[in-house]
Amino acid sequence: MDLSLTDQQEESKTSALDFARRKLNDSVIERDRAGDFSRSGWQDCADFGLQGILVPEKYGGLGLDALYYAAIMEGIGRGCKDNGLIFSINAHVLTCIIPILLHGTEELKKRYIPGLASGELIAANAMTEPDSGSDVYALRTTAVKEDDHYLLNGSKTFVTNAPVADVFIVYAATKKGAGFFGLSCFIVEKGSPGLLVGQKIEKMGLRTSPMAELGFNNCRVPAANLLGEEGAGGILFSSSMEWERGLILAHCLGVMDRLLDDCLEYANTRKPGSQAIGSHQSIAHKLAEMKMRLETSRLMIYKAAWLKTKRKSAALETSLAKLSVSESYIDNCRNALQIYGGYGYMVEYELERELRDALASSLYSGTSEIQKNIISSILL
Ligand SMILES: Cc1cc2nc3c(=O)[nH]c(=O)nc-3n(C[C@H](O)[C@H](O)[C@H](O)COP(=O)(O)OP(=O)(O)OC[C@H]3O[C@@H](n4cnc5c(N)ncnc54)[C@H](O)[C@@H]3O)c2cc1C
Repeated sequence: MDLSLTDQQEESKTSALDFARRKLNDSVIERDRAGDFSRSGWQDCADFGLQGILVPEKYGGLGLDALYYAAIMEGIGRGCKDNGLIFSINAHVLTCIIPILLHGTEELKKRYIPGLASGELIAANAMTEPDSGSDVYALRTTAVKEDDHYLLNGSKTFVTNAPVADVFIVYAATKKGAGFFGLSCFIVEKGSPGLLVGQKIEKMGLRTSPMAELGFNNCRVPAANLLGEEGAGGILFSSSMEWERGLILAHCLGVMDRLLDDCLEYANTRKPGSQAIGSHQSIAHKLAEMKMRLETSRLMIYKAAWLKTKRKSAALETSLAKLSVSESYIDNCRNALQIYGGYGYMVEYELERELRDALASSLYSGTSEIQKNIISSILL
């Protein structure tokens, strides 16, 4: 069994690392403090090809597969310290571009995909509601068809990219009380009559990724903007979650790799007194744990990516990857902070931000508890 990347995949990963180091690390501490999204960073990423990795060439993308996505994102994570920007791009690609590509009509693809790949347009995925977080299919937003359009009513919360988005992927009930089978999915444009975008929501981490609530007050959406069939929203959402859970943490492999290297150097050089801290078994063991979690995370992400490349169903593998890698990522950030001692707690060392950013990973795309529910329901 050969698990190595091809030469081209390795090259793409290396050029992503080089690009990220050169272009994406300006004033991250200040932008994190202010909660500033970098539109120029977004455009630089699009010019590099990030938003278009999975987009066919005929719509202006690179036409590459999920394994390339994982490899390139690993390189980006190794080089880029702006986790919020990369989180925003992942949400845009995995929960917005992918469903349009997989379920949109040719007309919808031509209208939206080129702009989404080129960086001109930003997309946001709106599923979560104040009263239906983990129980996603209990949502209350409704969509009622009238002639050639739908009227949407309800609200959404925790919508990543909402303050800056041009296009929203919105899930609503077209058949009330029918849960999974009563949902439909719509592409809603910024400025649609009856669409309200709330104030930016302040977050603990991922602060450079903007987030807001959405309100729909008889929001008028053309019937042609229904994504997939009416009633297919549940299937569409679970397929988009499979892509997201499999790939959203690929860049964290790069982050974990970078943190491990930094910690190794620190453990060898930091001598409070006469002894390097790496000579203490308690510190050395933390490094061993970090390496173990990095390597197991790599296997899980690349297995999920390989399955998506082969267009195979991967509900179990993507939930396993999401659960395991998010917890490993958080644990590795905690280890790094502990290894750096008091310095790790200080903003200047940029580890406290890594930990704040990492903590969200066990919440978004379904919490760790929900991943365990999915995994056990498949097993039982
Ligand atoms: C940084 C960030 C970005 C996000 N971006 C988006 C986005 O772009 N679009 C979007 O639609 N949503 C987004 N979300 C929302 C995210 O998907 C939800 O926060 C998540 O699904 C959990 O919902 P909740 O917060 O309402 O928690 P709740 O559902 O209220 O859960 C609270 C606690 O109870 C546990 N729990 C709930 N139900 C069960 C159960 N059945 N079994 C076991 N435990 C359970 C949960 O695991 C959690 O620990 C984002 C969230 C975060 C943190």
